[in-house]
Amino acid sequence: MINIFQDRAAKSAVLLIYTGGTIGMKEDPRTGALKPFDFKSIMDEVPELRKFSCKLDSYTFSPLIDSSDVEPSMWQALAKIILERYDRYDGFIVLHGTDTMAYSASALSFMLENLDKPVIFTGSQLPIGRPRTDGKENLISAVEIACAKDSQGKAMVPEVCIFFNSQLLRGNRSTKTDSTGFDAFRSPNYPPLATAGINIKYNLPAIHYPSGQGEPFSIYTRLDTRVAILKIHPGITPEIARHVLCEPDIRAAIIETYGSGNAISKPWFVEIVREAVAEGKILLNVTQCQKGDVNMDLYATGRALKEAGVVSGYDSTTESALGKLFYLLGTSADNEFVKVLLARNLKGEISK
Ligand code: ASP
Repeated sequence: MINIFQDRAAKSAVLLIYTGGTIGMKEDPRTGALKPFDFKSIMDEVPELRKFSCKLDSYTFSPLIDSSDVEPSMWQALAKIILERYDRYDGFIVLHGTDTMAYSASALSFMLENLDKPVIFTGSQLPIGRPRTDGKENLISAVEIACAKDSQGKAMVPEVCIFFNSQLLRGNRSTKTDSTGFDAFRSPNYPPLATAGINIKYNLPAIHYPSGQGEPFSIYTRLDTRVAILKIHPGITPEIARHVLCEPDIRAAIIETYGSGNAISKPWFVEIVREAVAEGKILLNVTQCQKGDVNMDLYATGRALKEAGVVSGYDSTTESALGKLFYLLGTSADNEFVKVLLARNLKGEISK
């Protein structure tokens, strides 16, 4: 671990965990190729960070990973890094590639228990070494939010979040919606937790604060990844649907449905769904729409799924549904019990 900046009058301490992705890239002046820069020199790249009265340390993953290669083992490592250093820092910033940032932030939101400090994921669309980079602004604002305390010295945002393009979003409500623009993330079903303009405006009613029972921070890392995702589309065949939903090695499947939770009403599809449910699998209905929720009572096609035993994902993102299933399946071998917990709002991931 490297101490990258220590203000003598530092009031807060923040750990920057650099996992890889575009934000940490710099152009090799000789070849023009992008390569990860040495994080020790972050203060040279972003001298504005010296202006905070904040102690900044960094931890660099080895090897650094393009986030397309993220695996649940990386989330387990991340959770352990945070746990081992939890008492030493007021907040944690995870520098992460944008491609799977919403998956990682969602999974961590379930794996970190009794969190009372901010864990802020951020990254960028342009490398930090490029003149028009969005990485500097994202990092600077994330540090400011990670240090922010209320009048009683408590963290302003004790949640797993994503900061991107002036907005702080709840991690398990976020999704990457733009592959090239700076405004890359949205949280269609939940308002931003904070917005950075001249000042950082905190949306206090939207932020979740710990109940105050004083339970110690802990992590849960036993994930069960036996989950598949089936996206419904015109032309989907019985073979494909059966292959995914009735695969013996899976315990659960997320069905990405149309609109308010509708899928094919043809008898062959409903029959496959019934078969999978009879085998004890959990089928979770999540809408393909970015905004809005699943309501299986609205149309006959949705009702057929409900009657066949499909459970509602409400207004969950797919990223969040996947993290929640990995986590819940890891906590229990009883699929019926997992179904009960799926319907509960555990970490602000569904509007219920
Ligand atoms: N492929 C990169 C990643 O997700 C893109 C990025 O960093 O934004 O790691």
